[in-house]
Amino acid sequence: MDLSYSPEELAFRDEVRAWLAKNLPAGLKDKGHYSKEELLRWHRILAKQGWVAPAWPKEWGGTGWNVVQRYIFEEELGYAGGPPLIPFGLTMCAPVLLRFGTEAQKKRFLPRIYQGEDLWCQGYSEPGSGSDLASLKTRATLKDNQYLVNGQKIWTTLAHYADWIFCLVRTHPTGEKRQEGISFLLIDMNSPGITVRPLMLMDGAHEVNEVFFDDVQVPAQNLVHEEGKGWTVAKYLLGHERMNTGRIGESKRQLAKLKEFASSTIKNNARFRDRLSRLEIELIALEITNLRFLDRMRRTGQPPGADVSMLKIKGTEIQQGLTELALECTDPLAGDEKSLALQKKYLSMRKTTIYAGSNEIQRNIIAKMTLGL
Ligand SMILES: Cc1cc2nc3c(=O)[nH]c(=O)nc-3n(C[C@H](O)[C@H](O)[C@H](O)COP(=O)(O)OP(=O)(O)OC[C@H]3O[C@@H](n4cnc5c(N)ncnc54)[C@H](O)[C@@H]3O)c2cc1C
Repeated sequence: MDLSYSPEELAFRDEVRAWLAKNLPAGLKDKGHYSKEELLRWHRILAKQGWVAPAWPKEWGGTGWNVVQRYIFEEELGYAGGPPLIPFGLTMCAPVLLRFGTEAQKKRFLPRIYQGEDLWCQGYSEPGSGSDLASLKTRATLKDNQYLVNGQKIWTTLAHYADWIFCLVRTHPTGEKRQEGISFLLIDMNSPGITVRPLMLMDGAHEVNEVFFDDVQVPAQNLVHEEGKGWTVAKYLLGHERMNTGRIGESKRQLAKLKEFASSTIKNNARFRDRLSRLEIELIALEITNLRFLDRMRRTGQPPGADVSMLKIKGTEIQQGLTELALECTDPLAGDEKSLALQKKYLSMRKTTIYAGSNEIQRNIIAKMTLGL
């Protein structure tokens, strides 16, 4: 097993790092929340460089980088501290279209996702159907080449910014297997009958929404894959969703900032020092685990499978742990800008162990896949 970078990979890392240092606008660094314009600005800078969708096939704008280069790039992006790339179009809908879409769907949607002309959101969860996704109730009935969609989605991240939503809908009544009869539909957010209502998160941010569908008409050509086979598409997409939840580069940046911010606590508080060291060791262990998966992918060409769940669990626990330590160094009553930002960050990171499939569900996946339970 080879866990070190080759001289070529190190040169590639330096090239990416230098480019980011030059091209990431200072005003976009380390902001907790970004406006739609800020998110799209960074997306378009990367698109212009040809780096916004490294994993796509080259004919659609991919870079042709191997898995290690893609990992290095993601880590450097996170470490640079810029706005996140919105994953719903780039790393969720696009891989689905590339795998299951028609040529017409690919031609229509992929270039617009690449250029940041369409922003997408993900319509999977419903009230009562989050972990138990197969119980979803939003219905779509086909009539005269149009689906009529009725129902509700919840926790829909950035629905208030989005131009399109990909949705799991029930096209056939629940049968013996609940996973059957679900379909994957692409829906224009400007369609009549769609209402978006904000849900405020506990850090005060408007990031997620409820989305209501009231007799929304969707052309039949917006169905992806076969009718009733949406669960296959959904599972394929979830694997992609969890690939980037480890966020090692971003955690390294947070760790470096915490060490700087907490320097006097580190000096005077042995217990704090202990916990910080433990977290740093866990981060190094996560990185090595990630490199191990990459080495295997590089050698076998096989996707990581249930291992992705391990990255999600440890990555999000580390992200939360870092904000917990940072919070301990702030005075809750100080009210200064820095303390408030850290308090908000702490609250904001509570969500990471819930979204993209809660960590309890990830543990179930690992148990099932690796222990055969
Ligand atoms: C900030 C944020 C953004 C989100 N963005 C989106 C989005 O853009 N699109 C979208 O579709 N969804 C989104 N979600 C929804 C997210 O996927 C769900 O919240 C998540 O799947 C959990 O579902 P739930 O909220 O219904 O909780 P439930 O499924 O009701 O779970 C409640 C608790 O029970 C635990 N639990 C449930 N079942 C089991 C089990 N079998 N074994 C052990 N423990 C279990 C869970 O881990 C959790 O702790 C987002 C959520 C958050 C918090």
